[in-house]
Amino acid sequence: MNVIEAEGVTFAYDERPVVEDVSLTVEEGEFVGLIGPNGSGKTTLLKLLLGLQRPDSGTVRLFGEPTGEFSDGERLGYVSQKSTDADRSMPITVREVVTMGRYPHVGLRRLREEDREIVESALDRVGIAHLADRRINRLSGGQKQRTYIARALASEADLLALDEPTVGVDADSRDRFYDLLNELNERGITIVLIEHDIGVITEHVDTVVCINRELLHHGSPDAFAESDALARAYGLEGTDSRLPVRNRTA
Ligand code: ADP
Repeated sequence: MNVIEAEGVTFAYDERPVVEDVSLTVEEGEFVGLIGPNGSGKTTLLKLLLGLQRPDSGTVRLFGEPTGEFSDGERLGYVSQKSTDADRSMPITVREVVTMGRYPHVGLRRLREEDREIVESALDRVGIAHLADRRINRLSGGQKQRTYIARALASEADLLALDEPTVGVDADSRDRFYDLLNELNERGITIVLIEHDIGVITEHVDTVVCINRELLHHGSPDAFAESDALARAYGLEGTDSRLPVRNRTA
């Protein structure tokens, strides 16, 4: 089953195309890393793939349904770059944020014991049970990211989409964060993630999507390393980006 199917997706801000004719699929259980230089359209493409923005042309299907008709919002856990800023002034606790993940399931009924157990288990799975009563605005960037992932787990999301989740996180915490993502992925959650550190991403994902407005690569990290996509994305044509610098000879 394809979780995402995009065909010929094009999008412009003020008539300047930032995503052009992108077609790709994300399969159930895949871990996809989306890379490209600053301003290459990564965030815009991710929003288009999630139906948060409408393409000017082309189509996107989410879990088999056109995004315009998709209504299973709880299947999607999206952590934008901005979401970790949004709670700065909110005096709510980590547990309360994670509990919000249950709202689409709860509707107008009261929270049941079962909902509370799901929340506690989500806190536990991402390693923040000890922070449950802390205010979200008192957490580090990495702890906040975990909180939002726990919220997505509490909502029983099948697809986790993360926009540069490890910005401002130290190297150790970043490695542990990726270990967590790999573990969630192994348990069946599909992950699409934007990351600026190419070395880190290629170590952890199944599939690299590299864009600079257009799609330059969609395939395995190994195939990416062998290709000229990186040079094309970062405007380094003419240099052989496939070779490590120390091996380049005149
Ligand atoms: P990336 O995530 O790769 O840094 P973005 O998708 O955020 O790229 O942005 C792609 C391009 O679109 C950039 O040139 C950016 O300045 C522009 N852009 C992003 N958001 C808007 C917006 N709301 N209005 C106009 N231009 C935008």
